[in-house]
Amino acid sequence: HKNAQNYTFQTEVNRMMKLIINSLYRNKEIFLRELISNGSDALDKIRLLSLTQREVLDVNPELSVRIKAEPDKRLLHIIDSGVGMTKNDLITNLGTIAKSGTADFLSKMQDAEKGGAQEMNDMIGQFGVGFYSAFLVADKVTVVSKHADDDQHVWESDANSFSVALDPRGNTLKRGTHITLHMKEEAADYLQPDTIRALVKKYSQFINFPIHLWASRTETVEEPVERDEGGAEEEEEDAKVESEDKAETKKTEKTIWDWEVMNDNKPIWTRKPGEVQDDEYTQFYKSLTKDTAAPLAKAHFVAEGEVTFRALLFVPRVQPAESFNRYGTKTDHIKLYVRRVFITDEFNDLMPNYLAFIQGIVDSDDLPLNVSRETLQQHKLIKIIKKKLVRKALDMLKKIPDDEYDHFWKEYSTNIKLGVMEDPSNRSRLAKLLRFQSSRGSDMTFLSDYVSRMKEGQSHIYYIAGASRAEVERSPFAERLVRAGYEVLYLTEAVDEYCLSSLPEYDGKKFQNIAKEIFDLDEDDRQKEQLEAYKKEFEPLTKWLGDKLSAWITRAQVSRRLARSPAALAATAFGWTGNMERLAMSNAH
Ligand code: ADP
Ligand code: MG
Repeated sequence: HKNAQNYTFQTEVNRMMKLIINSLYRNKEIFLRELISNGSDALDKIRLLSLTQREVLDVNPELSVRIKAEPDKRLLHIIDSGVGMTKNDLITNLGTIAKSGTADFLSKMQDAEKGGAQEMNDMIGQFGVGFYSAFLVADKVTVVSKHADDDQHVWESDANSFSVALDPRGNTLKRGTHITLHMKEEAADYLQPDTIRALVKKYSQFINFPIHLWASRTETVEEPVERDEGGAEEEEEDAKVESEDKAETKKTEKTIWDWEVMNDNKPIWTRKPGEVQDDEYTQFYKSLTKDTAAPLAKAHFVAEGEVTFRALLFVPRVQPAESFNRYGTKTDHIKLYVRRVFITDEFNDLMPNYLAFIQGIVDSDDLPLNVSRETLQQHKLIKIIKKKLVRKALDMLKKIPDDEYDHFWKEYSTNIKLGVMEDPSNRSRLAKLLRFQSSRGSDMTFLSDYVSRMKEGQSHIYYIAGASRAEVERSPFAERLVRAGYEVLYLTEAVDEYCLSSLPEYDGKKFQNIAKEIFDLDEDDRQKEQLEAYKKEFEPLTKWLGDKLSAWITRAQVSRRLARSPAALAATAFGWTGNMERLAMSNAH
């Protein structure tokens, strides 16, 4: 176009395109997923807008994505009736990278590149590579777009630079975006209807808008053989010659071109939980998260009571790495829908921090649609929904089978321990998920198992914290208890001691940190008398030690807690243990 203005891509875009093209050449097909997902995002935006400004749909009430291939011209069209882009949007959105996490992503990608193709693919799997993936299959891309605030413009690029022009044909789109890919010769297969159907099924079947394909089908039509008789005569004979009429039709094969819907756009969470297959959940999860592995656990439920909502929650097999998060500031992974309309995934109010790894969607009929997001965020029902979601999420975690729990615990133990510290109202539920090493053997133990093995008369759950299992096993504090047949929990992660300090009890049993001063060793009267006698006998020694060491210790005393070691340094009941001091020191440096 002669009125076209030429632009150069931002440097980061060039780097991004190079990376995409160099690393994804074996995985070109994802371009379609990315372009459909952009269309779907644009449709979400206009639908959301239409809730408060009904008239935005007047120019075109339809909300859909349409795909049309022209194999002979090697063109592929992807057309959506979404919100569209103004001239300025075209320049900014398709010429720069505005997202904050992208720079971080780019540097991670370059590290991954050294790690090889597999690492690269895993990374890209977790991160939507977006619009620029169009250049995997096309040597030229044309984007025509109409936004309510501007006239229709044409953006065009060969991946080296781009141009933007006012569309001389006028506002033909009414609303939305029409992308035309001028396909590379080697990408011609993506112009075949079967290939397109397969890709939509693989990557885009859960898009909540219809995705149409312009396709032909052959139909056998039965047509009557025309007769020349007059109308009146025919009517008279109708009843008698019905069978003859049949004989006088002929079958012909006809090719019919029409828009065919490729996806089942009924949201999976609106179906009955019992009627959805495991495999469907897995596919949905993958399309929701771009994870390549199946989820570790899932929950699908309808909550009723103060508020009715449906939800679908998933635990990813690998903790989502924040650096690959598409939103720099995002803290949860829950998408909020109201009556099937996508509202936002940026509330960050639906899961507490420690459960931010949970992915899923929530859809409620009880929230108002025609209010701003800010108003909605303040809505009193949001708090109630969150409370129920957390309960259900914890139920889901509790149900993870034994053979998967090791994996879960490796990946998420710190989250659960932080939960014990940060979420008092769910503390006892979270405590049921905790596992620790213990003196009993190499297996991890739940607190419930520990309690079931407690010795008769044992009133406390004993634990000791340290930097490693070897260190706590050697500890003089543990030796006598273990010898006497008591089980001692070994807390070897930095967060463990803080976690148990904030847990007052489990199943009615209090915790006892054995690195602290006197604790109730559940002794009989005879043992207590003996200890008193020792205390008297050794008073000169403890007094002398207390004086000599007064700069370092509060006091020296006789104790029955040691077996082989002659002496040990214990913390006072409310003081820091050596382990806590060690942690505080290492945090300070
Ligand atoms: P992302 O979708 O993660 O934001 P993309 O690279 O896929 O990144 O797209 C960049 C931006 O371009 C989008 O955020 C959006 O603003 C705009 N965009 C792309 N495709 C469309 C479309 N079909 N309709 C409207 N806007 C679009
Ligand atoms: Mg996108």
